[in-house]
Amino acid sequence: MRNSAVAPSGDISRMADDKLFWQGTLIAVQPRIRLTRAFDQRSHTYLGYALHVTGRIDDEDGEFLVGIGGAAQAKHQLRAGDVVQGRSAPVANEQMEPIGYYKTAGLRVIQRAAADEGEAPPPWRGITPELETYRERGHRRLSAQTYAGKCRSCIWGCRMAVEILVDQWNPRQRRYRTETFCYGPKSCPFYKPGPTRKVPGRKGMVWEEEDWVDEDATYHRDWDE
Ligand code: SF4
Repeated sequence: MRNSAVAPSGDISRMADDKLFWQGTLIAVQPRIRLTRAFDQRSHTYLGYALHVTGRIDDEDGEFLVGIGGAAQAKHQLRAGDVVQGRSAPVANEQMEPIGYYKTAGLRVIQRAAADEGEAPPPWRGITPELETYRERGHRRLSAQTYAGKCRSCIWGCRMAVEILVDQWNPRQRRYRTETFCYGPKSCPFYKPGPTRKVPGRKGMVWEEEDWVDEDATYHRDWDE
């Protein structure tokens, strides 16, 4: 799957820079964020945006996730329904990224989504805001089941790669997983928090992230904001 690429000309070849040519329709554009947890502490790394594509990559049809940077999204203003192409490399460490391909080059919009495409929100399928807006809004935990069933195409949904530093005195003790979050209006009828998140710590201790954490992260937003 990752050893060859279909160039725009149709030739099957490996790109000179080992990037794979892809083209397809965007199912969703969401923020691409890594969450680092250390017991009750957490921090975010804003990596850019995740393009959820249905199309063709490396001579195979299917759905795949491509990472782009914030500057690329500011330039291209991508949204669900756009037909897009580019070249991307497989991620080096799949535990640290919520996408399968990154270092995208040659990004090009082939066709824009129809202006009136889609139904009224939720989910919200317009153009994503800047990453700073996500940081300012803050998030609430989102049920993984709800994310998969209702929120995969919403600009306010986010599936984060999570790195857990289990023991700050022993950096080799790390765990990895994914978690889903919602940055959208608190009034969204689709929203379901799902179970509280548990974070492993030293000597078998466990931190439970209770509801007040989400309330604290989003207290500055009104119900419909
Ligand atoms: S719950 Fe959140 S992510 Fe899901 S549709 Fe509503 S606003 Fe979007």
